[in-house]
Amino acid sequence: MTKDWNTRTKLVHAGTRRSQYGEVSEAIFMTQGFVYDTAEAAEARFLEAGEDEFIYARYGNPTVRMFEERIAALEGAEDAFATASGMAAVNGALTSMLKAGDHVVSARALFGSCLYILEDVLTRFGVTVDFVDGTDLDAWKAAVRSETKAVFLESISNPTLEVIDLKAVSQIAHAVGALVVVDNVFATPIFQRSLELGADVVIYSATKHIDGQGRALGGVILGRREFIRKTVEPYLKHTGAAMSPFTAWIMLKGLETMDLRCRAQAASALAIAEAVAGHPNVEQAIYPFLPDHPQNALARAQMDKGGTVLSLVIKGGQGGAFKFLNALEIIVISNNLGDAKSIVTHPATTTHQRLTPEKRASLGISDGLVRISVGIEDTEDLIGDILAALENL
Ligand SMILES: *Cc1c(COP(=O)(O)O)cnc(C)c1O
Repeated sequence: MTKDWNTRTKLVHAGTRRSQYGEVSEAIFMTQGFVYDTAEAAEARFLEAGEDEFIYARYGNPTVRMFEERIAALEGAEDAFATASGMAAVNGALTSMLKAGDHVVSARALFGSCLYILEDVLTRFGVTVDFVDGTDLDAWKAAVRSETKAVFLESISNPTLEVIDLKAVSQIAHAVGALVVVDNVFATPIFQRSLELGADVVIYSATKHIDGQGRALGGVILGRREFIRKTVEPYLKHTGAAMSPFTAWIMLKGLETMDLRCRAQAASALAIAEAVAGHPNVEQAIYPFLPDHPQNALARAQMDKGGTVLSLVIKGGQGGAFKFLNALEIIVISNNLGDAKSIVTHPATTTHQRLTPEKRASLGISDGLVRISVGIEDTEDLIGDILAALENL
């Protein structure tokens, strides 16, 4: 059944629940509650809800459940819990599993809001957090200890695209009994099977490639059934970061085309990286599948493709980068990624503006660095747009 299907079949069919009308496209159950036939039925459902029984949309909803089952089938996870945003998923996974006295080790190159949760939120409740260079396995080994309950990392970091050895970090974490929590947005579930590599919990911002068309915020936590139902669900259903049924429907429709989109985007990203590497106005082209990427061999072993994002260091620092952004005609200036539209970001003055210059430098975020999320437009058009903007410097 579902388990034997290949990815593209799962993305179209897994998790589908049809109503009595036999609709082809997934129904949006835009309802906050559910009617019970009798008082006894209500009592029984509150005691234990069956597979197709729902109580309240904060706890679960048929459209949301379809999304959870489809993404779980894709990831090869036992279960999933959908959330209102990617950050609700990161916060929900970490906060539900940690308590005062616990220790967390995290890669230091993180999405800004993830850094906030680890540095500013968890530490207020007595959790200690240590940050390491995620590519340095000795640093991971030195940082874990018996109180370490979780290690946290982004499989490819934003925006410098460092690749972390998930198998090796998982072995280090499991040796002290810690769970491995991976924010796998940049690698995508299409190109990296994180659970097979050793991760225990995988998180996505569905806002990115899963929607893939820049419409809605969403997130999801995937892992073993016991963890999702006994640890994550109680926390999330009572704290309220539920995904809306309408959003779940958008995400279901996004999943249908995700494999096609991600493959087209990754092929274009590689072609662009190859076309601009060595350009006199490009100091550095960063893409995991370029041979000069520091973790190229690891990236090729761990991922089927290099992902949909590349970064360029433009000559001339911020001035050069701004000129480049302003000269692009197809690629829009924004800060989402994984979208059908190609998007360019200048991290130092936007997503990473709040960091001190020293911190940015330590993360490799120079003033000339631009991040390009490659969309599904024609590859030659995108290369033409980028080359024309580079000529213009
Ligand atoms: C976007 C993003 C998030 C946050 O997701 P939202 O849906 O915006 O809340 C977390 N981690 C990574 C790596 C992201 O790219």
